[in-house]
Amino acid sequence: MKTYKYLFFDIDDTLLDFQATEKEALRSLFAEQNMVLTSEDERRYKEINQSLWNAYENGKIERDEVLNTRFSTFFKQYNLEVDGSVLEKKYRSYLEQGHQLIDGAMELIMELHPHYELYIVTNGVSKTQDRRLRDSGLYPYFKKVFVSEDTGFQKPMKEFFDYVFDRIPSYTLGHGLIIGDSLSADIKGGQLSGIDTCWYNPLRKVNQSGVNPTYEIQHLKEIHEILPSMVKTSN
Ligand SMILES: [Mg+2]
Repeated sequence: MKTYKYLFFDIDDTLLDFQATEKEALRSLFAEQNMVLTSEDERRYKEINQSLWNAYENGKIERDEVLNTRFSTFFKQYNLEVDGSVLEKKYRSYLEQGHQLIDGAMELIMELHPHYELYIVTNGVSKTQDRRLRDSGLYPYFKKVFVSEDTGFQKPMKEFFDYVFDRIPSYTLGHGLIIGDSLSADIKGGQLSGIDTCWYNPLRKVNQSGVNPTYEIQHLKEIHEILPSMVKTSN
């Protein structure tokens, strides 16, 4: 079994429940418009949001355009004229408040902390991710937090990981492992940058991406099986 020293964790839907955070933020935003969020509204929002992010990933629009138009586009369906950038700011302030932990996340991080160097690697807005990590209680267990906004690159880009590795003293490539829920960002990124990968797949999604992780787990506690030194200490 391989010996790992550096563990790189994704945040959203790996350690913190972004689905729950997003839903709560949308609910608050709807309440401000005197509306009650239904599951159909939620589905519609996700559809619009996803298509804008796809356009961004394909180089058709800028990131700011995604953020500043998603709510104006969405509420137009309800014949509501809203200022997209104002709603985006409000939405972001609600997102910052959401920090529900994924089942087993805190226990895992506390157990790993004495034995490994733990790092966060996340795509997102620094202020938002920083606050959510602190409020969840996870923050003190990580040696460094790397947010794409600060690095100028994002997962899965190799440049993002090079930026991270360059900032870890005496980093050695063969001893890194990334743990995340996204095949296209976390697992692909790990592969591009030459580290082993662990796909957190709680919903047992079928992998049709062509990106194959080194390990796959359904629950965070299964990481014990990948990290043998931890098993020894907990026995
Ligand atoms: Mg994620």
